[in-house]
Amino acid sequence: MDYLLANGRVLDPSQNRDEVAHLVIRGGRIAEITPILPSDPSLKRIDCDGLWVAPGLVDIHVHLREPGQSYKETLQTGGAAALAGGFTTICCMPNTEPPLDSPTLVREIRQRAERETPCRVYVVAALTQGMAGEQLCDYHALKQAGAIACSDDAFPVQNAEVMRRAMLACAAYGLPVVTHCEDKSLSAGGSMHRGVVSSLLGLQGIPASSETVQIARNALLAWETGCQLHLQHLSTAVGVALVRFFKAQGVRLTCEVCPHHLLLTDSACEGYDTNAKMNPPLRTESDRRALSEGLIEGVIDCIATDHAPHAPFEKERTFPDAPFGIVGLETAFGCIGLWNHQQGTPLSPLEWIRLMSTAPAQILNLTAGTLQVGAPADVVVLDPHARWIVNPDEFRSKGRNTPFRGWELIGKVRYTFVGGECVYSAAG
Ligand SMILES: [Zn+2]
Ligand SMILES: [Zn+2]
Repeated sequence: MDYLLANGRVLDPSQNRDEVAHLVIRGGRIAEITPILPSDPSLKRIDCDGLWVAPGLVDIHVHLREPGQSYKETLQTGGAAALAGGFTTICCMPNTEPPLDSPTLVREIRQRAERETPCRVYVVAALTQGMAGEQLCDYHALKQAGAIACSDDAFPVQNAEVMRRAMLACAAYGLPVVTHCEDKSLSAGGSMHRGVVSSLLGLQGIPASSETVQIARNALLAWETGCQLHLQHLSTAVGVALVRFFKAQGVRLTCEVCPHHLLLTDSACEGYDTNAKMNPPLRTESDRRALSEGLIEGVIDCIATDHAPHAPFEKERTFPDAPFGIVGLETAFGCIGLWNHQQGTPLSPLEWIRLMSTAPAQILNLTAGTLQVGAPADVVVLDPHARWIVNPDEFRSKGRNTPFRGWELIGKVRYTFVGGECVYSAAG
């Protein structure tokens, strides 16, 4: 089926395009963006008055839990959650069972994803064997198998020399290194940010330094090795300042922030709600403000969700025993809409789409994030003003672990197209 998305506000950061126009999808590709309404009766017309027509969103930080933990999420349910959230391209993390540290596993997940979800799934492979932080992986073979970057995410390499050698090797093969910055000797035993709130709650804390020490170390090693480094889920004000400093020195460095770190602080842990437990943890109001400023200023390069589904029985444990992580794919766009509204709309529509589509695609060199004529029609139709209440029972994800239950978010996905196929429609 070919489509006419009529009269929407077409936003394409890859071409600095922001205009009311008609977008035509033919043969699975973007055929035309035109100010003159096409009269071809074979096109299925979708009226987009008052809506945004943008490149499909891109999330470079998602946990799909396969292989090994399909009770938490599957490629199919995670893919469906992504499409409902407007994401047409996602990158899955390797902390599965077993970890994605071999070319066989990387190939298997890519092939399975192609069969099991219409969402485009790229694989981030492990940085060390078994994510144990000791032996390097065969990066050449991983890249041949289709891995687009390497990361040990939640099991960050603690030994600086191992990280240095991993970066050298990844740089040689042109693979970006993606890091969750956490010095485990500082964070051990902690379940929330270390500060006034953790003291009041009697919970062991994770200090800001556990993140900042590793941001500095990894940036210094990237500087020395020339490796392309992407920092995951920044959570601290000092982290933002460090990124600003290293970028000014010309280090090949990018970073992301998650919607929850922009909207919430450690006070969300009061009441011991395990849906406020994630890693890195929710920090203080001054951290939250610094992250917001970093995003507006451009020090922070993109938005990612760190979508981390868990089964209800796992999150029903006590705060210290519950696993870290929350789902994010289906609330991300509305969360950023709410945040932008609260901030007094510092992000223009084009900038908002850039941060959630074009920029993350560029960071990991993905073919996505554009409405260029001839490109695959990965397109999302968004209602930026729609207010809606989060009901986790309606999620496509198997995960219900969100701190935003009952929140009113601003901005809703209306249609999602992948390769010209309508793969999600809010109407049903
Ligand atoms: Zn992480
Ligand atoms: Zn993660």
